[in-house]
Amino acid sequence: MNERRGHVEVARDAVARGERTAESITRAALDAIARQEPSLAAFTAVSAEQALTQAAAVDAARARGAALGPLAGVPVAVKDNICTKGVPTTAGSKILAGFVPPYNATVIERLAAAGAVIVGKTNCDEFAMGSSTENSAFGPTANPWSLAHAPGGSSGGSAATVAARAVPASLGSDTGGSIRQPAAFCGIVGLKPTYGRVSRYGLLAYASSLDQIGPFTTTAEDAAIVLDVIAGRDPHDATSADQPAPVVDAATTRDMQGLRIGVPRAFIEGVDAAVERAFAAALDAWRALGATIVDIALPNVSLAIPVYYLIATAEASSNLARYDGVRYGYRATLSPQDTLRTMYERSRDEGFGAEVKRRIMLGTYVLSAGYYDAYYLKAQQVRAALRDSYAAALATVDLIATPTTPTPAFRLGEKVADPLQMYLADIFTVSANLVGLPAISLPCGMSPDRLPIGCQLTARMWDEATLVRAGAAYQAASDWHLMTPALAGA
Ligand code: GLN
Repeated sequence: MNERRGHVEVARDAVARGERTAESITRAALDAIARQEPSLAAFTAVSAEQALTQAAAVDAARARGAALGPLAGVPVAVKDNICTKGVPTTAGSKILAGFVPPYNATVIERLAAAGAVIVGKTNCDEFAMGSSTENSAFGPTANPWSLAHAPGGSSGGSAATVAARAVPASLGSDTGGSIRQPAAFCGIVGLKPTYGRVSRYGLLAYASSLDQIGPFTTTAEDAAIVLDVIAGRDPHDATSADQPAPVVDAATTRDMQGLRIGVPRAFIEGVDAAVERAFAAALDAWRALGATIVDIALPNVSLAIPVYYLIATAEASSNLARYDGVRYGYRATLSPQDTLRTMYERSRDEGFGAEVKRRIMLGTYVLSAGYYDAYYLKAQQVRAALRDSYAAALATVDLIATPTTPTPAFRLGEKVADPLQMYLADIFTVSANLVGLPAISLPCGMSPDRLPIGCQLTARMWDEATLVRAGAAYQAASDWHLMTPALAGA
């Protein structure tokens, strides 16, 4: 029988029915990770012992007849910019080498309360700044479909390990596309929730007005299951909202009757030919399921990349000021005559990588007196105009569709020397962060050289349900999410 359910559902149901123990599922995940790490390098830390203890607790709860949580016995990997008590958290940076958080992020507490088994921390671009995971101080992660290609970024490790079927789900963070772009490059589902849907408490901040945590899974329904666990108001994060989130119910509709999908044609012109074909076929599939497809305009959307790189770097320059060699992680080796200032300078110089420094400088520049109005303020004005563009469009359609990325995965090394080219990989993803809207990437095709292609849907504020409905309907009618890289079985 062809298993169409997602891996989260399969694992959870097997544990709930007593067909498998949480321990055996966890051991299988740990074995797969160990087998794949030499090729993928998706993890910065594997917490096998903690995972087996969590799994044993789930099995004991079941034996007692206790109620099981919605993720009981499901192994989950977590991006290494999310704080895990007792497990090193580096955000891919040398400056946090040796940092072991004394507390859990709220999402970790919620995963644990739902019975999830956290197997380890995944590699990412340093402080989530990048689109390829090559900016990690611990070396790059490979794409499971082709080890010579980038898995995307910045949550590359989280995407690669789910794509390689080692774990059913993982968490990433998305500031400008860091969940959706690697999901597209690796052929899986990635969901960026509405800004405020998920608590950011314990997420190492990159750009606080844009950051959101969200799931990677193989199906839209699985993404909803994980989202429902991690979502909701948290007193530790003032921007978290109290929005009821039974998103998963939307997955059962399996049709698109009455839904309108808008396509900003002018904006997506010029994408790679295979991406264009796959995107057109996905639109046909939704039309066949009952959706109406219409052309829309999105004024100012072509300015999203510069606006994003002004606002994100400005916020980053402020957020990263706390890494001064005093309180966390790395401190430069000093001689007795060195001053405090030298300690700050050398610790930051030696601790941060090149891309992080580039962004701190850019962000400091755009916030500085004399330039603030010309750059930062201007960017905020365009951001407001962009919000209006999306609001106007979403008054006439329920969803906006674009490819997730203009091309399939690029080669490792291909863009490292050219930051601007790297930034352009985010052209279709940064807007959702700037305007706060939820968006999902779904696998919708393969390039001629067998690299996955993703399609992105954006919905109204708090309307993750429609993303999941459209995703589940599409996945009931397509097989792209069932394809696995050869490495998964190896
Ligand atoms: N690639 C984008 C950047 O480099 C987005 C990163 C992210 O979403 N964390 O900033």
